[in-house]
Amino acid sequence: MLATTLLFMASALHAGARPIAPEAIGGYSAGCLKHSMALPLTGPGYQVIRSKRLRYYGHPDLIHYLTTLANQTRMAGMPDLYIADLAMAHGGPFSSGHRSHQTGLDADIWFRMANQPISKWEQDAPKEWALIDEPSYRVLPGRFGPQQLELLRLAASKPEVARIFINPVLKGEVCKRAADEPWVAKLRPWVGHFSHFHVRLHCPAGSPDCQPQAPIPPGNGCDAELASWLKDKPQLPKVSMTYSKPRLPARCGS
Ligand SMILES: [Zn+2]
Repeated sequence: MLATTLLFMASALHAGARPIAPEAIGGYSAGCLKHSMALPLTGPGYQVIRSKRLRYYGHPDLIHYLTTLANQTRMAGMPDLYIADLAMAHGGPFSSGHRSHQTGLDADIWFRMANQPISKWEQDAPKEWALIDEPSYRVLPGRFGPQQLELLRLAASKPEVARIFINPVLKGEVCKRAADEPWVAKLRPWVGHFSHFHVRLHCPAGSPDCQPQAPIPPGNGCDAELASWLKDKPQLPKVSMTYSKPRLPARCGS
């Protein structure tokens, strides 16, 4: 009896001493997140938009990435970043919108920036600020300037970034201006993304069940790969909204 009690106490003590470890589980499009961290809704160099959706949680690595990036853009003299969706508090699939963002390692950042505090009204329903005209698929004048290029450079250069999804027309703009820079390879063309880009981090340390994505192909992606995306311009629609429900890893519960 005494031995059992002692054992119980010891295990309780042990459990109590164990740090609460954040963990990304499963894949970016079929996974979940344990012990997430909330991104404060405003901070130096950034403001979170659409906070009512409660999608401002992430793995602490993602929160650290975003706050560091915002500090850097601020130091570079840029206005505040608009930070949109990260993940829900426990990750998993969103009820609407995009399919990934499930493991707390994805974040959407707008190309538009804020020179002043964003009003409550705009925070809830920010105006779309597309960089690309439809149906010509040309970049709207003045919308992809040096600040947007520098934002992508800072965002993509960090080693924890696995890839950044970007509209192919905008990847084309980067290829014209910075094709030789090593971070350009991380910009991956994808449908939609007319007003924002999507950062995806590598699986973090301490998340053994996090499923990485295949490494990006060699080269900067400015050649045949980009051409194949740009060839069928009318086929660069917004992301399709119909998804089947993903099968989540058992550790994610129901
Ligand atoms: Zn996204």
